[in-house]
Amino acid sequence: AKSAGGNRFEVADPEADARAITRHGLTTALPAALERGEFFIEYQPLVHLGDGSVRGAEALVRWLHPQHGVLSPDRFIPLAEHTGLIVPLGRWVLEQSVRQARAWQERNGGTEATGPLRINVNLSPCQLTHPGLVQDTVEILERTGVEPSALCLEVTESALIGADDDLLKPLRRLAEMGVDIALDDFGTGYSNLANLRRLPVSVLKLDRSFTQSMQQFPADPVDLKIVEGIVSLAHSLDLAVTVEGVETGAQAEQLRILGCDTAQGWYYARPGPPERLHELTLADATS
Ligand code: C2E
Ligand code: CA
Ligand code: CA
Ligand code: CA
Repeated sequence: AKSAGGNRFEVADPEADARAITRHGLTTALPAALERGEFFIEYQPLVHLGDGSVRGAEALVRWLHPQHGVLSPDRFIPLAEHTGLIVPLGRWVLEQSVRQARAWQERNGGTEATGPLRINVNLSPCQLTHPGLVQDTVEILERTGVEPSALCLEVTESALIGADDDLLKPLRRLAEMGVDIALDDFGTGYSNLANLRRLPVSVLKLDRSFTQSMQQFPADPVDLKIVEGIVSLAHSLDLAVTVEGVETGAQAEQLRILGCDTAQGWYYARPGPPERLHELTLADATS
């Protein structure tokens, strides 16, 4: 940045330079990091708003960098997308997470009421256009013995805006197999609501910004109306609504009243190691 009040142009920006160097360094380190096993996955529970039971978890990848410590996905996913490494990295995340779901299901598969524990995995737009997506997914499900219906792939709303049929084809195939497709960060893009009918999605993940506006009491009446409208439209199209970023009990209660189905956020649990989810579901079963 230019120095405030300075009367000369600052040509060099040491901070920006440092950031660029780190970006470059991280980018070139990505392939070896994948080979060396420096990535790991944290899981954040998905909770049924009606009865509070844990229904599954979202897989969130992290990088344990030997010099920089734990890096959040926002730091390296864009770099991996830029270089194409997101394809093998995303495949690794999918395989690890589905294996993990299998392990949870074997230890305590959920109750008859809740069904088997489910796993949500984020898909980058680059993975959507990669020809191996459907086959990789089928193979991973077959190898692990996890039902397609226990897997939910999350795709951002922005990735599907204006998507043509070629882009939607792999998602349609997966949806036909029984895999759930969720529209992530819903409400932040500019997608035409009528467009939803065209997309093979079965879940809307309402963006955190809506949850945040439920923080105030009483909540903003316009936001309430918007969420109410989204939920009723979603339900009329047979879509489930998940809300993310729930940090307080008041938000959870408000969103439950508005008819949202599932919630995720720090109020329930931060993303954590897989054993944590197991403990939470056990607590569920005994409470
Ligand atoms: P996302 O898919 O929207 O994931 C939700 C983010 O919100 C996560 O950030 C999660 O830790 C955070 N979060 C959860 N509950 C709360 C809460 O109550 N309050 C607040 N303030 N935040 C909360 P995280 O783990 O840093 O991930 C950031 C993004 O990175 C994700 O956003 C997703 O777009 C991307 N990402 C993560 N893992 C993967 C992956 O395996 N593949 C791809 N392609 N993208 C990934
Ligand atoms: Ca997500
Ligand atoms: Ca999201
Ligand atoms: Ca997000």
